[in-house]
Amino acid sequence: TGTLFVVATPIGNLTDISQRAIDTLASVDLIAAEDTRHSQRLLQQFSITTRMLSLHDHNEQQRARQLIDLLDEGQQIALISDAGTPLISDPGYGLVSQCRQAGHRVVPIPGACAAIAALSASGLPTDKFRFCGFLPVKQQAREDALNALADSQETCIFYEAPRRVLDTMQMISAVLGEERHIVLAKELTKAFETFQSGSAASISDWLRADEVHQKGEFVLMIGPAKIREEGIPADAERLLRTLCGELP
Ligand code: SAM
Repeated sequence: TGTLFVVATPIGNLTDISQRAIDTLASVDLIAAEDTRHSQRLLQQFSITTRMLSLHDHNEQQRARQLIDLLDEGQQIALISDAGTPLISDPGYGLVSQCRQAGHRVVPIPGACAAIAALSASGLPTDKFRFCGFLPVKQQAREDALNALADSQETCIFYEAPRRVLDTMQMISAVLGEERHIVLAKELTKAFETFQSGSAASISDWLRADEVHQKGEFVLMIGPAKIREEGIPADAERLLRTLCGELP
């Protein structure tokens, strides 16, 4: 039977691809890519001529069936996304779960992942962390998602869109306060890679200081909550903060 290789590709710096990833992409019968035009550049860079087929959120169900038929015939298939590790806030879950159900071998070819790269250099605790993908777009849902972290003892990792990053940072100030240690990683592995670390207010200031600061790709990390010795519950403290905000 065939094998599905889940292949990580770079998140910026093209040299962040493993030899095993290059060899796999060159030797499989077919590459399923999130955006074939985008991935064509990567393949060209490494002189890989393997046939590509698109697999994205809108055709994944139908494509998965088609690809499983090819695996049944004994073909070798690689799955890639536009950047980083497939399935991590990227398409592929339907395909991988169905491949497993159908009894096909699924082999990871590990490599770049923005969440892990950001966490590893953030200076935040790494012993327990949670990856939460993108925050909800709707204001209320986003606020609720942040509220749920009030007492979290894990570092929480989010992906955030440039057009929302300042808004989210201000929301963190309002919901979680300025004691929380935040790290914003921007443009990882690229020429203008930066890490901003500190309170949400200080990072909001930095984002506002220059329009360019709000452009690019971001990983947002929220450190664990301080353990409360004084025994004031998180919701009481939130209420106090809101009430203090109302004071003249
Ligand atoms: N599968 C990818 C991975 O393994 O990291 C993530 C795909 S997700 C659709 C894209 C988001 O990941 C971006 O909006 C950004 O939040 C984050 N991201 C990807 N590349 C990045 C980079 N070079 N620097 C910072 N964040 C990045």
